[in-house]
Amino acid sequence: MSPILSTHGLGRTFRTKGGPLHALTDVTLDCDPGRSLGVVGESGCGKTTLNRLILMLDTPTAGEVRFKDKPLAQLTTNERKAYRRAVQPVFQNPYSSLNPRLRVRKIIREPLAANTTMSRAQIDARVDEVLEAVGLSSRDADRLPAEFSGGQRQRIAIARALASKPELMLLDEPVSSQDISIRAQILNVLKDLRDEYGLATLFVSHDLATVRFMCDEVVVIYLGRIVERGPANVICSAPRHPYTQALLAATLSADPDAPEMATRPQGEIPSPLAPPSGCPYHTRCPHAHDLCKAQRPQAQPAEGGGTVACHLVEQGGW
Ligand code: SF4
Repeated sequence: MSPILSTHGLGRTFRTKGGPLHALTDVTLDCDPGRSLGVVGESGCGKTTLNRLILMLDTPTAGEVRFKDKPLAQLTTNERKAYRRAVQPVFQNPYSSLNPRLRVRKIIREPLAANTTMSRAQIDARVDEVLEAVGLSSRDADRLPAEFSGGQRQRIAIARALASKPELMLLDEPVSSQDISIRAQILNVLKDLRDEYGLATLFVSHDLATVRFMCDEVVVIYLGRIVERGPANVICSAPRHPYTQALLAATLSADPDAPEMATRPQGEIPSPLAPPSGCPYHTRCPHAHDLCKAQRPQAQPAEGGGTVACHLVEQGGW
């Protein structure tokens, strides 16, 4: 089965006064129907750039994004419309993504009216249907966003994304602005929708616990490059790359019952304007050795599935 969306050697370099800023380099990934891919990394790792390229808010300087195997740059006007319908984003903050002056029915109806040939009655029926799918009711359609809690607003944002029957939902930290109790509810709604509609999801997050719950596969990005990829259960419980181990330690450190781990992230993420030589993680890695400073490791197949770009893994492990 061919992917709904894929990226191939995707890169974005910005020209700045301080020199070239490599926000994203050589990112290749697939989003398959019914599957959930996680993209993980700290803020500043390139996740936002990746989102913007996928949503056609920016243009790559290397590689390409493909929709059903056709490069976005080659889509016809009608195909672009189909792409915008098929790929729907849900952002972190439902407060800023919902127009406070519009009633919920209009919020959900607007993108539908712009992108489909459905009649008004069909659109209204669809609005009721998606509100119910996210655990709200058609009565909620006549209320304003301010009348809802934060968790309910995120459900409205999900309903709006769902309304045009997308094939891929791009979920950018969709629960990180919510209370813990609300997070689980929203994640369950998203998971049920994915299973019911066979949606592909691209789930962008810094939180491995959430990614483990939601995803089948995960790619880990550091300073704009993929450093590890593999099955979610491996990446989120027994990661092989020291950076992913540090992310996992950071996730576990939020849990008071979790064991102390030695590999929490050390220091600040370096500036992408002056990335370290060799392995980009060597300035923070507790296992760095001379080779790490001189030579960038290539992605290698790793035990447990997927690939890891680390000299230690290359050399046979720890
Ligand atoms: Fe650490 Fe070296 Fe592996 Fe980079 S290549 S992650 S510095 S051990």
